[in-house]
Amino acid sequence: MKKHIVLTFLTSFLFIIIALSVVACKKEETPNIYENTEIGFQGDVIIVGAGASGLAAAKKLEEEGISYQILEATNKLGGRIQKDETFADFPIDLGAEWIHEDKSILNYLINQPGREPNVETILYQPMNAQEVVGNTISQISNQDMVDYYANYITEYKFKNTTWYDFIDANFTQNVEQNIIYNSKVSTTDYSGDKVILTTEDGTEYEADKVILTVSIGALKSNAITFIPSLPSEKITAMQDVEFLPGFKLFMKFSDQFYPDVITCQTSSGEKTYYDVAYGKGANDHVLGLLSTGISAENYYLLNDPNTIVDTVLQELDGYFSGLASQYYLGSYIYQDWGQQTYTQGTWTSDFQAASADLIAPLDDKVYFAGETYNSSGISPVDGFYIIRGSVQSAILSGYEVVDKILE
Ligand SMILES: Cc1cc2nc3c(=O)[nH]c(=O)nc-3n(C[C@H](O)[C@H](O)[C@H](O)COP(=O)(O)OP(=O)(O)OC[C@H]3O[C@@H](n4cnc5c(N)ncnc54)[C@H](O)[C@@H]3O)c2cc1C
Repeated sequence: MKKHIVLTFLTSFLFIIIALSVVACKKEETPNIYENTEIGFQGDVIIVGAGASGLAAAKKLEEEGISYQILEATNKLGGRIQKDETFADFPIDLGAEWIHEDKSILNYLINQPGREPNVETILYQPMNAQEVVGNTISQISNQDMVDYYANYITEYKFKNTTWYDFIDANFTQNVEQNIIYNSKVSTTDYSGDKVILTTEDGTEYEADKVILTVSIGALKSNAITFIPSLPSEKITAMQDVEFLPGFKLFMKFSDQFYPDVITCQTSSGEKTYYDVAYGKGANDHVLGLLSTGISAENYYLLNDPNTIVDTVLQELDGYFSGLASQYYLGSYIYQDWGQQTYTQGTWTSDFQAASADLIAPLDDKVYFAGETYNSSGISPVDGFYIIRGSVQSAILSGYEVVDKILE
């Protein structure tokens, strides 16, 4: 049971890998994932969304010399990959944070050979872990942690950088100039030869092919009207995808009174406190709370971030005899994703391969890409596990959809 709880912290992405109980055998040389021999497509493409997947698709279109634009609803790129550099003496990932499975995936994602990425990473193996069951907190034994790391695949984090920096360094060159910010697509009309996209301010854009990378949460909330309507099989397939609400809270303390990790038992999603500075060689003490599913919904009932912070401090005071309030420095970052209009959730938390209905393009004109559309589920692809709901899943689906269009 303890092991199960620790697993929950080491992010739910790992569940399926554990079920497989196999460590992937990585290739020394990274295969060419850009492979595309003959281009059979001439025309314009519009990508909706400048997250990891939209940027990866754009990078590939750029390299293939295909004309494209990116319509992004917000005023920034990255989607669920964002960073803060002002809160602490190290940069903080506000969305995606862990490198799932192995650091060599980073080279694979940018088609670089070799296993060692050119950015410093940390093997993420926290040993000082506690768990909360009901209202009781207890230490997870060293042996349990040793056994866990001996038996299961672990994860990495960036040491002095973030996922945002990785995306920025590798996916934005020559692409960023094609992003039109503050352009929320509200209608996608694919009834004619060309697809017509209308943004909230009434501007119309026309393209031969459209790549939609908006989150499944935003799609499920009917943020985009389709003309004609989406096929009923696609709507059903979309509704079947679990995409839980959630947020991250970062609080600064004058001293570290907490262990590396505290996992809290919960009936859906996860609730984990973690030392955000773990392995970073930082002086600041930042405790993070990652809350998804039922725990996030309960916190949302408190209505405002200040009240959430007060409640969290009270909870921690209960576990640590008042030390949380004593050491709290009064500053926090509350990054909500579940109620963020353009995301409406965290990540796809069911790990089976996306169904054919979910992935199917609309009349070979509107294609779907993003972390949800992983067609292989959790299975080794070129020696890596491509975990649905992760950054790598988003990036690879961006490449794959361009391959499909160029076929
Ligand atoms: C709290 C949290 C923690 C996570 N932790 C990890 C982790 O540790 N490791 C990991 O690998 N993954 C993690 N993930 C998942 C990872 O962040 C996502 O899988 C990935 O970033 C998704 O990329 P995407 O391009 O598919 O979608 P998004 O990043 O959501 O990009 C979609 C873009 O579309 C835009 N958009 C939406 N609607 C419209 C519209 N109507 N018109 C125009 N633009 C629109 C959005 O603004 C956004 O920029 C985490 C996610 C969250 C929220």
